[in-house]
Amino acid sequence: MSDRYAKVKLQVEEMKSLGEDAGKEGADAEEQVPEGSPTASVSPDTPSVTMAAGDASRAHLTCKQRVKSRCRLGKDVKNSCGKHACDVSLHGSVVTARVGQNLNRLGHERTLHVRGTGKILQGKLETNGNYVNTHPPKNNQETRREDGFKLARNQRPVTVDMSKAKTSLEALKLSIKQLKWKEFPLGRRAPCDIYWHGVSFHDNEKILSGQVNKFPGMIEMLRKINLSRAVRTMQELFPEEYDFYPRSWILPEECQQFSTQIRMVKENDATLNPTFIVKPDSGSQGDGIYLIRDPSDLKLMAGSPAKQAVVQEYIQKPLLIDKLKFDIRLYVLLKSLEPLEIYIAKEGLTRFCTEPYQEPSQKNLSHVFMHLTNYSLNVHSGNFVHSDSQSTGSKRTLSSVLYRLAAKGVDIKKVWSDIIALVIKTAIAMVPELRVHYQADIPPGKPGPTCFQILGFDILLMKNLKPVLLEVNSNPSMRIEHEQEVATGVFEYVPSPVDEEVKVSVIRDTLRLMDPGRRKPSISQLRAGGPEPGEEIPMEAETQERSPEEGGALPSLCLKQVYPKYTKQFNYLRLVERIAALFIRFLGVKGNMRLGPTAFRTFIRTCKLSNSNFSMASVDILYIDITRRWSGTMADSKEAGMGLQAFVEAFFHLAGRRFKSLPLRQQVASLLELCEAQLQTGAEERRSVSCSRAMPRPPKTQTLGAGNPRLGSPAPLRRASSQEYRLHQRLLPRTLRANVEN
Ligand code: ADP
Repeated sequence: MSDRYAKVKLQVEEMKSLGEDAGKEGADAEEQVPEGSPTASVSPDTPSVTMAAGDASRAHLTCKQRVKSRCRLGKDVKNSCGKHACDVSLHGSVVTARVGQNLNRLGHERTLHVRGTGKILQGKLETNGNYVNTHPPKNNQETRREDGFKLARNQRPVTVDMSKAKTSLEALKLSIKQLKWKEFPLGRRAPCDIYWHGVSFHDNEKILSGQVNKFPGMIEMLRKINLSRAVRTMQELFPEEYDFYPRSWILPEECQQFSTQIRMVKENDATLNPTFIVKPDSGSQGDGIYLIRDPSDLKLMAGSPAKQAVVQEYIQKPLLIDKLKFDIRLYVLLKSLEPLEIYIAKEGLTRFCTEPYQEPSQKNLSHVFMHLTNYSLNVHSGNFVHSDSQSTGSKRTLSSVLYRLAAKGVDIKKVWSDIIALVIKTAIAMVPELRVHYQADIPPGKPGPTCFQILGFDILLMKNLKPVLLEVNSNPSMRIEHEQEVATGVFEYVPSPVDEEVKVSVIRDTLRLMDPGRRKPSISQLRAGGPEPGEEIPMEAETQERSPEEGGALPSLCLKQVYPKYTKQFNYLRLVERIAALFIRFLGVKGNMRLGPTAFRTFIRTCKLSNSNFSMASVDILYIDITRRWSGTMADSKEAGMGLQAFVEAFFHLAGRRFKSLPLRQQVASLLELCEAQLQTGAEERRSVSCSRAMPRPPKTQTLGAGNPRLGSPAPLRRASSQEYRLHQRLLPRTLRANVEN
């Protein structure tokens, strides 16, 4: 046991002996805090929210108070994506003026360290000096840092274009100030090192260099249906590894399947009475979500176009604190796709409901403040508690919650390890689709920026402490202010110390990791490693990840690398990514994201997958069958051809034909090996032909056309692909429906 973990235990013991809530509550993780404890913030007679338009069976979750509050704001608070937005500059002075006070208040909280989770109720003055201070004092350390900075970089400071930062602007400004970098709030004619976008990769067009904080295609990838599909593909291959995502059906296409399956479940066991949550595909902040107990309650109006949505098994027994349901917002940095690099913020947020939780019943299905943890909803409940402390109120730090759980005897090492595994596995499910988008927008060899992105993982802890993935936000809110009713009917954005504490650190440390002057990690640091598959991920001592030029002025990074660090444990899951690599190889042309029939044939031929049992005519039928079905189910079906998900389905089918006797995972792995070996042989043959061409030879030797240097694709493929490319260009609508929280 390391010193750090021993320290946790010691402090937990200390708390217990102090007679704080631990002693009174015992070890049951569910709801242990007694009534009247200082943090119990909701009275049992909380008024509930009424049912929608008397339709009890559908139980539409309505939120009268929310609508009322928004109206009372008396101004349009929606941004271009339809989300809440505020004119930051309007409130900027208020924000800056209050920040110092709040930070001082925060600075006096107690300290508890847990390995791997970083600070818990961190007494910042003890270890971190000035790190969250808006105006850090000029101390010796800082002078050394400035000197070191100049010596190390011996150039200009890093430049950041923040003209499109939108609601993350305030947090970004504070971060840049701490780093002493140079901000460009209105953009800059000359290129910047870093471009900070508020919504999408395409917020600024024509960026040819530097780094952008968004990946192309991330918004599309993380829409609820796409994420569910991607995770489901992984569930087919690795059912046990991906059991952290609730069972989901895609509407409207799987409506019938959903009804039939639920009916069968109920017929088999009449005591089962599951609940389901219906979420609109492109919704966010709880908009349009409702709970049902029977498939007949789905709102699929006959005659009107059915809405795209995901219906999901509702987790009926969440872990409660103070009798309230809560969820975790974890910030995850996807630093690079190739090689895959993932960092997790050691500190996150927890968002609490504002009405005591009861298991779903027909009576309470519509109680939005009981079932949905969204901050944007609960902030409009009369019971919402704004608190400057990190460990009380309706929004708290993750560490303060883990601290409480640890005090109750919960094995938070295991919880944290499970959360890390969930994040890595989800990222592995997302990467294939992202790689397709990436090559379409930023083809290798062409000038363009590199990308990174902060994602918001929403995780629910079940009563048995198992983490469940609710969704991943492509644009997690980076606001550091919250809406508060300062007088009756008068709302104002006021600084939120908890948000600031967490979010500024995440942005600042993301920037530090993306610093173009930062030394690249050594081979040994990047070496694939970690525990073997199935082993628990250890909560290691915090590493002092600091670049020398940062000296001692900044704290160690709040972002912990989890991949490639734990490659050994998770690499075997990356099968679909290898299928995506094949897909990309045969796409062939810049901007293309769909495979045409000729390119699909070329794939089959090149990988030698057709034979007497599987003719090229069958290949064409397979292509048409799968493509037709998928184009009927895709929202953006105007793009012709076979998308990645359809290609993966075709690949599974081919694998099944070829390796009938094996389980699916091995079928797919075997077919991948076969295809990769064929491509390797083909590449070697081409190389040897081109070598022999370089030698003097007789004039009529057969030659290969000058293949696409990027893909090494043969000439017929290039011709076919370029025709398809032109067709796709004509049909190309890029609808961006963002799951943004701004
Ligand atoms: P949105 O993007 O609209 O916030 P989410 O998927 O995050 O949609 O769902 C909103 C809230 O609903 C979550 O914060 C959580 O409290 C609750 N929720 C979502 N899915 C489930 C589920 N499967 N089981 C229990 N609660 C859920």
